[in-house]
Amino acid sequence: MKTILVTGGAGYIGSHTVVSLVDQGYYPLIVDDLRNSSPEILEGITRLTNHSFSHFSVDICDKKALFSLFNQFSIDAVIHFAAYKSVGESCAAPLRYYQNNLIGLLNVLEACERFSVRKFVFSSSCTVYGEPEHKQVYETTPKRLPESPYGYTKWMGEQIIEDLHRNTLPFETICLRYFNPIGAHPSGLIGELPVGIPNNLLPYITQTAAGIRDQLTIFGNDYPTPDGTGIRDYVHVCDVAEAHVKALTYPGAAPLEAFNIGTGKGTSVLEMVHLFQSVASIHLPFVYGPRRDGDITEISANVDHSKAVLGWEAKRTVAEAIRDAWHWEQQRSKSDD
Ligand code: UDP
Repeated sequence: MKTILVTGGAGYIGSHTVVSLVDQGYYPLIVDDLRNSSPEILEGITRLTNHSFSHFSVDICDKKALFSLFNQFSIDAVIHFAAYKSVGESCAAPLRYYQNNLIGLLNVLEACERFSVRKFVFSSSCTVYGEPEHKQVYETTPKRLPESPYGYTKWMGEQIIEDLHRNTLPFETICLRYFNPIGAHPSGLIGELPVGIPNNLLPYITQTAAGIRDQLTIFGNDYPTPDGTGIRDYVHVCDVAEAHVKALTYPGAAPLEAFNIGTGKGTSVLEMVHLFQSVASIHLPFVYGPRRDGDITEISANVDHSKAVLGWEAKRTVAEAIRDAWHWEQQRSKSDD
């Protein structure tokens, strides 16, 4: 059985990936100090996987502790999620973001090299495309400078990996460029745990519907889109998780390859609100506010390369993702009562 070290394996995408890995017969080692997660998620993973994983509470910026883990186990591949992910927070605390996201990545890459790991999967993001000239982006679309320190850490992460491969070919690397992962495991046992007020759209919507927030603010209705609100490519987190399992078996002709992880279909903020109302049969109070700094108008993925080369495509709809996110929110509200 192959052993996969998953940094940030208790996080939002990480936890769903761990469940998919176990489903496909891998043994995940979760490395996560739970600073952005909770024992509740580990409990959910345990119930879904019947204890078929290990968890180590290690900060990946602690190189000694990280290397000692690599020394202890024979690791076949690494999937690296552990990073801070809030655009707004990164503008307020850039040093914290650069320190955690870049030092963490450098330590993990050094460990992979030192301990002869054969495969490395990096959590990248569509932020590397910036505000694209054409709304649908290919992996070959030129990268643009990001709008935030968070975006730069992903952009620089890809650059560091590319530089590493230019001189040596230490291991195969796959960069998965996520578009907008949403939803939760259909069991309602794991899902997104926003810390404080959610930054992302769907957690804000579900918390508003649950009565935790008064109303949703739609950031801008004067964008050059059919209904004036921003358009994104929302993709079910379980589909995103499965892309990582595909990445492990992908033979990887090129030492470094990037894949878009989206559906190919854009949905506006207003369409998301209407879809939520029809899926949950709940009226959602919202107001229009000004545009949010750093937001782009529209982006969606071209997924031809992911389909043809990685053999991956999203199987679930946005409506299913909304249903699962709402189920997860309701489970959580129940457990908080
Ligand atoms: N958005 C919004 N209100 C919110 C949160 C987000 O109108 O409370 C909009 C945001 O402006 C963008 C879309 O929802 O057009 C997706 O934002 P999110 O933060 O979820 O993801 P991003 O694309 O910024 O990574």
